[in-house]
Amino acid sequence: MSDIKNQIKRLRDEIDRHSDLYYQKSAPEITDQEFDELLKRLQDLEEKNPDLITADSPTQRIGGKAEGFEPFTHRVAMMSLDNSYNIDELRKFDERCRKLADGREFTYVAELKIDGLSLSLHYKNGVLIHGVTRGDGTTGDDVTPNAKTIRTIPLKLKTDAPDELEVRGEAFIAKSVFKTINKELADKGEKTFANARNSASGTIRMLDSAIVASRRLDLFPYDVLSGNQKAFETHWKNFKFLKKAGFNVNPHHRKCDDIEGVIEFCNEMEKKKEDLDYDIDGIVVKINETALQDEFGATAKSPRWAISYKYPAMQATTKLNSITIQVGRTGALTPVANLEPVLLAGTTVSRASLHNEDEIKRLNIKIGDTVLIEKSGEIIPQVIKVIESKRTGIEQDYEFPINCPVCGFDAARPEGEAVTRCTNDVCPAKIKGRLGYFSMRKAMDIEGLGEILIQQLVDGGRVKDVSDLYTLDVETLSNLERMAEKSAENVYEEIQKSKEKGLQKLLFGLDIRHVGERYSKILANHFRSMEKLSEATVEDLEAIHEIGEKVARSVYEYFREERNQKMIARLKDAGVKMEVDADSSVNLDENFVGKIFVLTGKMENYTRGEAAKLIEERGGRVSSSVSKKTDYVLAGEKAGSKLAKAESLGVSILSETEFVEFIS
Ligand SMILES: [Zn+2]
Repeated sequence: MSDIKNQIKRLRDEIDRHSDLYYQKSAPEITDQEFDELLKRLQDLEEKNPDLITADSPTQRIGGKAEGFEPFTHRVAMMSLDNSYNIDELRKFDERCRKLADGREFTYVAELKIDGLSLSLHYKNGVLIHGVTRGDGTTGDDVTPNAKTIRTIPLKLKTDAPDELEVRGEAFIAKSVFKTINKELADKGEKTFANARNSASGTIRMLDSAIVASRRLDLFPYDVLSGNQKAFETHWKNFKFLKKAGFNVNPHHRKCDDIEGVIEFCNEMEKKKEDLDYDIDGIVVKINETALQDEFGATAKSPRWAISYKYPAMQATTKLNSITIQVGRTGALTPVANLEPVLLAGTTVSRASLHNEDEIKRLNIKIGDTVLIEKSGEIIPQVIKVIESKRTGIEQDYEFPINCPVCGFDAARPEGEAVTRCTNDVCPAKIKGRLGYFSMRKAMDIEGLGEILIQQLVDGGRVKDVSDLYTLDVETLSNLERMAEKSAENVYEEIQKSKEKGLQKLLFGLDIRHVGERYSKILANHFRSMEKLSEATVEDLEAIHEIGEKVARSVYEYFREERNQKMIARLKDAGVKMEVDADSSVNLDENFVGKIFVLTGKMENYTRGEAAKLIEERGGRVSSSVSKKTDYVLAGEKAGSKLAKAESLGVSILSETEFVEFIS
């Protein structure tokens, strides 16, 4: 029994460690899939040993579907804060505070105003029992099952605490996660969220906590209450406690002796805020001393001891003059709004993204409309909405094109997809895009092959696909307009140099659908040469751990296309290296290179994902079924038919212990 107990503890520790790596350190070591596998293993063990389930086990974050949410009345109202929009107003706030303090000394704490939604978390004897939205400030919704899915909210406090404790914080979705969510929604043809804040508040109210869990909400805590009172004598002490209790405390907060220190912090963070992976819309300034907070009290709507300082508006209204369609390397037709230039957060903006046809329909945009635009960390601002009250009647409807504006071929939008694409394989816009992609640093790294040069080469008919780059000589290059002899030589040298980049970078540069940096690496390490990869069947590809059907099919189909086959042949003839690059061979182990492993049964120390990773890192391959080609079967406990088949075929069988020796 104690063995299982230990196993459960080890799994919980491991899951907690990976959660921590993901959220606190932003440095995950395993994939989401592998994480889920660990969780599943723990769940299985706990199911068989229900007496070992504890309130703080990571499995307790997995809830079911709710019918609806119960209202919950806050013990202490969740008030909103007064806003200040410039430094003068901040100084006036300071004057009011000093007057109220009447000569007594005090300090300020400045912290980020996270653009998310407030949650109130109730702990009883250290265990999370309620998670409640702010609602109208007096009553919110009890969304406990959803709050539990937020991995940075401890289910059990990690430090001593009063019997009843309330923690308040701001739940949010990281910008990077938000992008993924929207991409997935768009891929499924569903409605996307306008910004990360909307996605966070929409998510927390979903009835299916499994979806909530997949959205990876996060939370920064900012206050601790014990009963109706603040838990500590200063606000600063909250942060220290919260950290110890296991919360994800935002690192950007500062204790300031006076308002000048606060102003300094505001200015510092304004410069840094675009680099943060979450949205903030200002700084919250609070009196640090709880006794003074209590004494100052509140007006009907907000406390007198706190204020929020808002950064200059990231929104503006302007006129939409026209819509231009850009065609990218995948042939996607992307509408861009051309705007009457307007000043927004310090820069002049004259263009905004409109994403796709549906977005134009959703916004109901007409040419000549007045629109609200917003900048939120993105380089290109977004159109948020049309100000319909400003319409004069001369605005014109917009028709999304049915032809590619670059080559005139039909543009098609497959059923269920949001994106319209040019159907011409050799559309100049696609060729230019592919060349730009091919020469990127992450791919073949051809310096000097810039946008203008690519344009000249494609428009002049010199280059029709990436293989034509290797037919260029110095003379051809230097005969191009605005191309000096010296730069022609440099570009030529760069192109020659790129031949040695190796399989991984070449694969990435070829821009096979769904094959980005990570899959290029996996495929290169697995197959070692373009020839082997091009011969792989969908089954061969799918047998690789981490490669799903979508990627497998896409790779398979890429190599079946005659145009691609010919291009690769030309690249090869030009001397472009078609084998794996030396760099990625460093960790190879000759016991593993080219060997095919099949995993079966349950191992004590590894999930299958972990074992597969160890094998693949060393140059081995993992296949899902045993055949004569199989070199080793790694058999864990309760190995079934695969083990029997391996024995009958005479395939070498490794136990977990032998495997551990093998890899070390
Ligand atoms: Zn086209």
